[in-house]
Amino acid sequence: MRPVKKGSSPIVGDFNKYEDAKPELVSRLGIYCSYCERKISTLLAVEHIEPKDGAHGQPHLSRSWSNFLLACTNCNSCKSSKKVNFKRLMFPDRDNTYYAFDYELDGSVKYSTRLTARQKVMARNTLKLTGLDKPLQEFKDENDEQVALDRRAQRMEAFGTAQAALNYLDADSDNPNMRAVIANLAIQTGFFSIWMKVFDAYPDMKVQFIQDFKGTEGSGCFDMTTGSSITPAPNVDALEQGGKI
Ligand SMILES: [Zn+2]
Repeated sequence: MRPVKKGSSPIVGDFNKYEDAKPELVSRLGIYCSYCERKISTLLAVEHIEPKDGAHGQPHLSRSWSNFLLACTNCNSCKSSKKVNFKRLMFPDRDNTYYAFDYELDGSVKYSTRLTARQKVMARNTLKLTGLDKPLQEFKDENDEQVALDRRAQRMEAFGTAQAALNYLDADSDNPNMRAVIANLAIQTGFFSIWMKVFDAYPDMKVQFIQDFKGTEGSGCFDMTTGSSITPAPNVDALEQGGKI
């Protein structure tokens, strides 16, 4: 889960409608779901970190910049109006959520084994809240081939794309044009964490991804020489219960 810096509110006070914040959020964070990292060209929603309605709703935060991220319909509907306790969860605008999770070739997302016991509980709660721990759903076409409709299947597909790109770079690693094409492909494909994992042996590519995915470098969660994680997150926007990891 890509950590981001959202920055201070672009306006004084609250938005008239929360949807009005979308252009500025996309401009600062890129057009990706803040939780599952997919590129979402349409139907990307302004996500309320704390729910705006329901039993645990915080209606006074419904138009407040500090309570916004971006989410796809799957993450949004999984999260729904469930209670958000910042002490028990990790969020990409305040924690180093890249360090917290491991992405597997089978499309699953797991909490990282390098976490402390307490952090593991938080990471697991976060996967459950957003539904990123859901199993693969079987969607087969008429030839019995898996169709990548759900988030997990799409992560598997992104792994395939990134690994093919890695093979090209391994075969032609002195070619700067190759690097530029791959960085562009990553931006177009989404799934920041998968590109970072696949290109682990290329610090320059990791730094490129961190620079190119908007809002990532500003999070302060990465060393910009090696591309490796800095933990705990510096919580650059000074958000509630930030920097837990
Ligand atoms: Zn999502």
